[in-house]
Amino acid sequence: MSDHYSETPLINPDQITIRAADTPLPKGHSVSPDYNLTPQTMCPAFGSLRVLTRIDGVQTAMVTDTGCLYGLTFVTHFYAARKSIAAPAFGTRELVAGNVAEAAIAACTEASRVPGTKLIAAISLCVAETAGLTEEMLPPQINGIDVILVRVPAYAIHSHPEAKDVAINALLKRYAPSSAEMTADGVEKPLTYDEGNADEETLRRRVIMLGELFPADPISVDTVLKRLGSGLAATLPSRNLDDYKLARRVGAIAAVHPFYGGSVATLRAAGVPIISGAPVGPEASYNWIKAVGAALKLDPNLTEQVAAEEREKCRAIIAQFPLSGRVMVCGYEGNELLYARLLVEAGAEVPYVSTSIQKSLYTAADEAWLRARGTREVVYQKTLEQDIRALDVYKPDLVLGTTPLSAEAKQRGIPAMYYTNMLSVRPLFLSAGLAGTIQLVRDALERAPRYEWMRAFFEGERRTGMSSAPINTMD
Ligand code: SF4
Repeated sequence: MSDHYSETPLINPDQITIRAADTPLPKGHSVSPDYNLTPQTMCPAFGSLRVLTRIDGVQTAMVTDTGCLYGLTFVTHFYAARKSIAAPAFGTRELVAGNVAEAAIAACTEASRVPGTKLIAAISLCVAETAGLTEEMLPPQINGIDVILVRVPAYAIHSHPEAKDVAINALLKRYAPSSAEMTADGVEKPLTYDEGNADEETLRRRVIMLGELFPADPISVDTVLKRLGSGLAATLPSRNLDDYKLARRVGAIAAVHPFYGGSVATLRAAGVPIISGAPVGPEASYNWIKAVGAALKLDPNLTEQVAAEEREKCRAIIAQFPLSGRVMVCGYEGNELLYARLLVEAGAEVPYVSTSIQKSLYTAADEAWLRARGTREVVYQKTLEQDIRALDVYKPDLVLGTTPLSAEAKQRGIPAMYYTNMLSVRPLFLSAGLAGTIQLVRDALERAPRYEWMRAFFEGERRTGMSSAPINTMD
């Protein structure tokens, strides 16, 4: 937890009353910077639900209170799940009456009747009675269809990205377990046991990327890997259940986002080499290609050549479109440190980075890299109020932020872009991703006079009679 977070005053009812009754918000603020009272996110379990409902042949059964069920099914269908979610009708009366396991099995049985079902994922959430559901209480199969339990109580899983990891880890535990395959004679079967087994040999030279990728990224990564004699076997999360079954058979897993710690631990236990870090910007792209070459034991001279060429391509793009200005990077996707690295390498100053995920072994390298290049704060499990305070402190030229933070920045005349919709939906990796991202950021930095003009325009309107009531930017 960051120093900034621990300095936050504890909330008590007196303080809240004082702010509401007597103290106006500081000038330019639509959100109080004092106490972390704003709802920070909707239910984090949505991350799991979204990953699972997108996989062909997977049906979900939600085991929770009807209140959670209503919100989560609403949002899931808003994001076009295109499949029903089975669930027992659990109100308070039913929950205290017990029979949670029986009701969960009934919901899974209902899900198993959907034509084409290959896997049923039972999702247990916050409610104490359903959070206590264990794998042993569910049958491994119903009507011949595999059943897995995905436990995502929000008091333990704090962000959407980490809930995605829980879902993928549950799939990998079922389909890429650490136990070795055995022959009919009870002898451990090596993954590649016969030189005539060409498919296995090919797979052992390939990589699976584990991370939320924009569709163009796997194409550019695959092109570079093919030059090395390798290639991408799949990306996870995937819509294809079979891709999860490949995870134990490939030469390496490239965990390009830092929040897949549980999945990485499962794959490491299964003996699959893990490549950490991501190919963002010149230095990290060079290091990542070299790491792939080392993990797959590829030709070192060819690997060095391809890595150096990609680094030079990145440097040439930066020389053509250098960035200058102070940028705050504040998302909740879990990939914020990667974007910050890229912007710093392109010439921007990034004093503050915040993310929804927790600090971990997998964030350490990027955080150290950023701090060595001038980043003063890296905030994990951030709140909106921490980001607002950072706006006051760092006075950025551009904010790449969450919706309410971007709204707050625009209200102050600071150029701002919504991180998830504008930045995180573009290619990022290697020279191809670098080019698109830094041009977008460069354009945004150049729009400062327009934002200042808008601020002056709207403040002028207010002085002539419009309400000065704060705008609810959470809508
Ligand atoms: S699972 Fe927890 S956080 Fe999610 S809607 Fe239910 S009570 Fe709220």
